[in-house]
Amino acid sequence: MTLAIQTQNLGKKYGNLQAISSLHLEIPEGQFFGLIGPNGSGKTTTIHILSTLIRPTTGTVLVAGHNVVDDPVAVRRKIGLVFQESALDRTLTVEENLQFSGALYGLDHRLIAERSRKLLDLFDLDGKRKAKVATLSGGMRRALDIARGVLHQPRILFLDEPTIGLDIINRRRIWRFMKQLRQELGMTILLTTHYLEEAESCDQVTFLRKGELIGQGRPDVLIRELGAFILEIESDEPEESIRLIQPQLGSPVQEGEKLFFRIPDATFSIGRLQDELQGHIQSFNVRKPDLNDVYIWKNSALEGGNTAC
Ligand code: ADP
Ligand code: MG
Repeated sequence: MTLAIQTQNLGKKYGNLQAISSLHLEIPEGQFFGLIGPNGSGKTTTIHILSTLIRPTTGTVLVAGHNVVDDPVAVRRKIGLVFQESALDRTLTVEENLQFSGALYGLDHRLIAERSRKLLDLFDLDGKRKAKVATLSGGMRRALDIARGVLHQPRILFLDEPTIGLDIINRRRIWRFMKQLRQELGMTILLTTHYLEEAESCDQVTFLRKGELIGQGRPDVLIRELGAFILEIESDEPEESIRLIQPQLGSPVQEGEKLFFRIPDATFSIGRLQDELQGHIQSFNVRKPDLNDVYIWKNSALEGGNTAC
């Protein structure tokens, strides 16, 4: 297995603030990798180190086999980067933005035109070639940002919150584009997101919390390990509900008036529990766990209590 990205004991301090610490990452070539965590957890900092924009305080980082500190130019040749904030010139047209970006990478006109056509087609932007970026919708602009980031066909693509601020339909479109890109170009993709449910289609995810890695694995495996179901209860007397349920299902995670319990086994008798709770609860809902639950439970274990993030 060849690794596209490898970090050992990676740390970054801004003054006294330890933004990330002891980060070990191993991302095989061709993988679709999600770095996930809430705002301020260190996602952008990690991407900026991997893409040579800032230097780590501690640790070793290899990207496409090159050390980011010793050989940043070699790293930059192999990567594409799509920032959290758009890097497009809003006063230029779609086509002009791609021409400009391609020229910066030293691509000739014919190659830029050929790749632009393919990418705009792939991203449903072929009808917008002559449109000024300022006139595009947020979803279209994001798609164009990604097209701009892959015009030089990097082996590794970094996407920092590619779906932030978009509505659900555009978020799904961007995910479709990223999957198509991967199929067409076979690149390694590392993306960050704080929309955890989206990251379920990644090959591997890593959870960051206050700059530390708190979990890593395949989303389907992490979800399966959490349990068969999540029981969600609303109760205005939570202590009584906890007293009844805890001996059967363990401690809950609490969020306001909502309590979440893990049901480890699909054969657990939900009906009997529901009968026992009659009169103590406002709502009773059993559902499949998702990646959000995985994060909430990992976070809760670290807080040493039962509060959700
Ligand atoms: P995320 O992308 O997950 O929201 P960031 O990597 O942007 O997180 O930030 C991690 C932490 O580092 C935050 O506490 C943030 O305020 C801080 N931080 C980020 N960039 C700087 C900087 N240039 N100078 C000082 N602190 C920073
Ligand atoms: Mg960020």
